[in-house]
Amino acid sequence: MPTSFVLTTVLVVGVLMTIFIGLVVMIRTRRALSQERAGVFEMLDAVGSGLMVVRDGTVQYSNATSSQILKRTPAQILRQPLHDLLHQGTAADQPGVPCALEVAVRQHQPYRGQERFADGTGRLVPVAVTGTPQADGSGRFVIAFRDRSGDIALGRQREEAFALVSHEVRSPLTAVVGYSSRLNAAVTSGALVVTDQRAEEIAVLAREARRMQEIILLILDMAEIERGRVDVEVEPVRASTVVQEEIDRVTRDRPAARFVFDSDEVVVESDERYVRRIVQNLLENAVKYGGDAAPVQVMLRQTDDGGCSLSVRDHGDGIPVEAQPRIFERFYRHESAAAYGRGLGLGLYLSRRLASRLGGRLTFTSSPGEGAEFSLVLPKACPELAPVEPVTGQAARFVLPQN
Ligand code: ADP
Repeated sequence: MPTSFVLTTVLVVGVLMTIFIGLVVMIRTRRALSQERAGVFEMLDAVGSGLMVVRDGTVQYSNATSSQILKRTPAQILRQPLHDLLHQGTAADQPGVPCALEVAVRQHQPYRGQERFADGTGRLVPVAVTGTPQADGSGRFVIAFRDRSGDIALGRQREEAFALVSHEVRSPLTAVVGYSSRLNAAVTSGALVVTDQRAEEIAVLAREARRMQEIILLILDMAEIERGRVDVEVEPVRASTVVQEEIDRVTRDRPAARFVFDSDEVVVESDERYVRRIVQNLLENAVKYGGDAAPVQVMLRQTDDGGCSLSVRDHGDGIPVEAQPRIFERFYRHESAAAYGRGLGLGLYLSRRLASRLGGRLTFTSSPGEGAEFSLVLPKACPELAPVEPVTGQAARFVLPQN
């Protein structure tokens, strides 16, 4: 047998064996990888929080807890556009303004906050959400969320107790506010003569007592709204008079504040207490956040259907873009708000819900640096029954790994 034949045979066998060993190694590696991957997915399914991975605006991955919270199968979640998932079947909270989570996803920015995701049955599930953009250049954004329904039920019980206490505090506080205001008025008018220091102390006492009363009223309103029980007393409300009186009141408290009021004569069937509460909040915010440099423009118009539309426009710094999707949330204050004065972050939350109870709508537009304009629209007649809150929604969903 020629040597060349033997050498060729050895070479061919060697090459074949190398290929065979390579194939075996490759198959084993792939199997190990896929087992490892299955193990990772199993672990992610065991995590108590919902997890989603979003890329190019659609959901690429969703774990088992996501399906449980959202009451949707993976097939109903994966490859869905996140936006459609978030708002599925519900109207956007603020037309034209995406929800805060969506803004973070689009801008590839970290996010932490609370949302309401629509589940497969149409219910809005309150969730605590953390969003983390992946820094590996893949464009992936990881969303982890936890169902807060249980926390909220517990919180409600605490709030009920708190509201009960607030209710009991209201009567003694009314006396404190009444007497301290009278005392202050007597000092201011000169009927009661005290030292300058005492006069200053009495003024602080009267002011802080009034502030405490406002806080108690806000808490009571909030408790009522949270329980979904807002009783309205419908009567003819002369909107122009209410707005003018509230402008006068704000100007009394803050003489530097300036308003330009342009008004139609409009009378609507509504609950005057609540209309006042909303108007008061909008005017106070316009002065607080808009500053005194330029007058706040207030315009009241009759709408074609006999209702009214009120616009309150200030010329301040405007609402920061990242705050815009959140300003109607309970207790939400943008971090810059502290520089403008005190607040609980409840005013707009209550105003929007009251507006919806009156059958109306509260919206805003704002370009940072160019002030803000809030618009309240009320119908000719407040409905006997109306939802306390407009149908809002942030639902969520996702895309899963292809391989
Ligand atoms: P508060 O004024 O007590 O903080 P609100 O619910 O009235 O609570 O307002 C919520 C947040 O919205 C404010 O903290 C502020 O960040 C923002 N905001 C409201 N009105 C304006 C405005 N006219 N201009 C700029 N930011 C505003």
